[in-house]
Amino acid sequence: MLGELLPKLDCRPEFQWAGAFGSTSTGLPFIGSVPKHPRIQAVMGYGGNGITYSRVAAELIATALDGGKDLDADIYAFPC
Ligand SMILES: Cc1cc2nc3c(=O)[nH]c(=O)nc-3n(C[C@H](O)[C@H](O)[C@H](O)COP(=O)(O)OP(=O)(O)OC[C@H]3O[C@@H](n4cnc5c(N)ncnc54)[C@H](O)[C@@H]3O)c2cc1C
Repeated sequence: MLGELLPKLDCRPEFQWAGAFGSTSTGLPFIGSVPKHPRIQAVMGYGGNGITYSRVAAELIATALDGGKDLDADIYAFPC
């Protein structure tokens, strides 16, 4: 596109990057222990909102590792 607008410009990219954005059917990430593996905590499916949800995840996982249960834990729990 840029090359079409400015044909004399060298538009070859120096670097390229690609990433996968995982999302769930509800739009909420999964945060918590993995079903059938209660000692494994996982956080996934941020759906492009990971800056906010990684902060939420940090609170939930830290509370779980400390033996407690965050009030929002069920909202983000993995489906069984
Ligand atoms: C290009 C791009 C644009 C984005 N834009 C947005 C946006 O506009 N809004 C938004 O909300 N989110 C956005 N995100 C998503 C957001 O940045 C991420 O979802 C969020 O930073 C994830 O946080 P995290 O703490 O879960 O993981 P990370 O930030 O990936 O942190 C994981 C850390 O663990 C370290 N690590 C990994 N393996 C090991 C190991 N074996 N031992 C020790 N350390 C290890 C890594 O080095 C890293 O520091 C964007 C992401 C990308 C890539």
